[in-house]
Amino acid sequence: MKQSELHWIALSPNVFVDYTEGKILLYNTRNYKCITSTDTRLINLIREFYRPENLGVLSLDEFEKMTSNDVRVANNMNMFVSVKNSTKPLNFLPILNLQHDLTKNMSGGLKEIKGKLSLLSSLFIQINYGYADSKVSFYRNLTSKQYATPCFSEEKTTLRVDFVEQILKEACLSSIHNVHIIIGSPMINIMEYIRIFERYNFQYYLHIYSDIVYEFLSHISDYSSVSKINFVVFCDRYSNPNIAQRLIKESKDCGNFEFINLIDEVDRLLSCSSSAMKMLPVWTENNFDFFLKEVFIGIEDIEASELTLSDLFCNQKLNRNFFGILQINPDETIAAFLDGKNTRYSGTNILNQAVVSELINNTRWRVTRNMTSCRTCPYKYLCPPVTALELNFKLDKICKL
Ligand code: SF4
Repeated sequence: MKQSELHWIALSPNVFVDYTEGKILLYNTRNYKCITSTDTRLINLIREFYRPENLGVLSLDEFEKMTSNDVRVANNMNMFVSVKNSTKPLNFLPILNLQHDLTKNMSGGLKEIKGKLSLLSSLFIQINYGYADSKVSFYRNLTSKQYATPCFSEEKTTLRVDFVEQILKEACLSSIHNVHIIIGSPMINIMEYIRIFERYNFQYYLHIYSDIVYEFLSHISDYSSVSKINFVVFCDRYSNPNIAQRLIKESKDCGNFEFINLIDEVDRLLSCSSSAMKMLPVWTENNFDFFLKEVFIGIEDIEASELTLSDLFCNQKLNRNFFGILQINPDETIAAFLDGKNTRYSGTNILNQAVVSELINNTRWRVTRNMTSCRTCPYKYLCPPVTALELNFKLDKICKL
């Protein structure tokens, strides 16, 4: 005799669940719908699904006993799946796999973490500082705390060529494909560096302000030798716009130039918009209104995000803006990307030492929103990872909430 079918309700395994101070967040990673709620019926219902004995499934009777308006809203967002089966189905709900959790290894003195260099995914190497009057230097130094643009200083320090070679040699054992070279001033013998770059098989990106590009390019004797080098050219309110326009025209047929316009107010946003240039907003410490209007995200942006379960689990554990990225300064100090706290390492395995130091001190790589004032916000894992803007300028958040 065929056993009669029973009606079961499962919590969809595509749903990410998080609890924050009496609020629940459900985010469906298939249709990207999300709900936040303080409804105790919905909260208790989800907790029931997660009880080990329920294995993510309840009978229709149990489910209906806990229904409420928010449960119905969640149901309409396909957070639940209806199943007819004679026996209770199995439903493996997603949980964060902590087997390889870095924080667990901290107590073990990091000995357990094999191949630490493989965590390294990108390098930013600043060869020398830019030089300009104090107003421009101040402004551009604010920018360099937000993006990989040159720092400005009166110091004439230039990163030693053999130090660059040591770093690139060590980087061969890492997961790095792209090496970013930041040039502040054209007063270097760039061919010396290019000869080193050619020995190591990375893609190179030279970050440079438009003002010095022509002078800089005039030092490159054999242009065909730099095919592995791409240029990232920055223009800001102090750059001569004619130089950028000329460069754009001349580099039209040459795929390895990217132009970035650094924008700090609405007027510049309107006057500088050009399809040939990417635009990035720059925080000047006095342009809160511009950021509020044009940059900070609203609830509709957060709810429109299309994230996978691994994105969300990643946001719980790592900071994707910084993880795996180191920055090397002209004075041979090393820091996590866009972090001003520089450390000097000596001897061999410099990159390895810097990775270990970052894993222990966590200045950037594992700074997640639950470590900031966002910790009480139900959207903390949906929002983009903590930015340099928040860390370097003590901004509380990047939203309009
Ligand atoms: S920035 Fe922080 S407070 Fe604002 S929505 Fe994101 S997590 Fe919430």
